[in-house]
Amino acid sequence: MASLVEVEHGRCSCGGHFENHEVEIRLTASGRPIVLPNVPQGVCPRCGSHVYKVQVLEYIESLMREPPVPGPN
Ligand SMILES: [Zn+2]
Repeated sequence: MASLVEVEHGRCSCGGHFENHEVEIRLTASGRPIVLPNVPQGVCPRCGSHVYKVQVLEYIESLMREPPVPGPN
């Protein structure tokens, strides 16, 4: 995900500027546990809200859309 890190998160609605953090996201897609290390996340130092980049959300959504892994043929 190196290319995602270069995208700025921009400003928070409270006026603060999001700081770049990297977090680990754990989710379950199609019944499979998935761990995404080093996911860029924007954290607002003023109000504490956090956001993800559109690319990250789209990537997660694409994982969730994947059909269950078929068994061995
Ligand atoms: Zn804020």
